[in-house]
Amino acid sequence: MKKHNFSAGPCVLPKSVMEQAAAAVLNFDEGLSLLEISHRSKPFVDVMENARSLALELLGLEGKGYKALFLQGGASTQFLMVALNLLEKRAGYLNSGTWADKSIKEAKIYDDIYEVGSSKAANFNYIPKGYDIPEDYDYFHCTSNNTIFGTQMKSFPNSPVPMVCDMSSDIFSRQLDFSQFDLIYAGAQKNMGPAGTTLVVIKEDILGKVSRKIPSMMDYKVHIGKGSMFNTPPVFAVYVSMLTMQWLKDLGGIKAIEEINEKKASLIYSEIDLNPLFKGYAVKEDRSNMNATFTLENENLKETFDAMCLEAGINGINGHRSVGGYRASMYNALSLDSVKALVEIMSDLESKA
Ligand SMILES: *Cc1c(COP(=O)(O)O)cnc(C)c1O
Repeated sequence: MKKHNFSAGPCVLPKSVMEQAAAAVLNFDEGLSLLEISHRSKPFVDVMENARSLALELLGLEGKGYKALFLQGGASTQFLMVALNLLEKRAGYLNSGTWADKSIKEAKIYDDIYEVGSSKAANFNYIPKGYDIPEDYDYFHCTSNNTIFGTQMKSFPNSPVPMVCDMSSDIFSRQLDFSQFDLIYAGAQKNMGPAGTTLVVIKEDILGKVSRKIPSMMDYKVHIGKGSMFNTPPVFAVYVSMLTMQWLKDLGGIKAIEEINEKKASLIYSEIDLNPLFKGYAVKEDRSNMNATFTLENENLKETFDAMCLEAGINGINGHRSVGGYRASMYNALSLDSVKALVEIMSDLESKA
């Protein structure tokens, strides 16, 4: 039976990418596996260089002073790397969800953090707006898509200081002027590849301004200087990320996927709004095109709905424990047909109830 994989991450990847990745594990270079050749060999160095340039190309940041890195430690390590490399006195953070909250906690270890806005009191069901970013801050940090709560920033402030953005769960999903950001990071496992690597895109001229000593592995400059090969990179995760970016480029890039992503999101949200059995979690204007969060109005229907989902091959829609209900994650590789399958079950439930 076809599975419809709505998992929040790690999550669905294109089938053609899986096939190429599987083949490379068996035979990548003259009978040797991708997993057993030196990361300093030409075939792998080419993979790394290709992955780095594809990332900048897809984001439209080539030739604009940016460098792309594939690091380890997940987006969670970026919470502290950002602070170590950029925080001298004080930075402003937008607290729009669990991940933003965690990034604040890590940065506070090093220096002063000011929350320019927070929706914590409303259990993060909206994106704070109308805040000011003081000109004397070191940087401003925001989270473009709040994976757990299903909210997404539709616009970004005109920041007077470098803007840092955690795009883990919506990188490469929609067109934005990416040059408004000075540092973008994204754990691969949501919209780019398997777990194990994190894309970091940095405008080089924001670095080198803090006085503290930075350990080598935490220092963006060190990684840039070594072409993202300071130490052994996670070869498999980088390779599969490269394949996924190539898949996206062949499809027509971010512009093409954005159209599909908008169709998927409008399909599920119109069902949530029309079907009296379901209720959306996030406020409408901030709804995420990647993660749709919703609950059943009547919890007694949960068993029936879950059984119907199971039967239809719908996988991974249980909500995060901090929200409850359901979360349908609709990353780039999830097809419109999968969303149609879920919407059909939701509407079947209405006719049964
Ligand atoms: C999943 C997620 C993270 C954490 O990523 P790890 O790679 O597990 O550290 C951080 N930020 C956002 C927005 C996420 O969705």
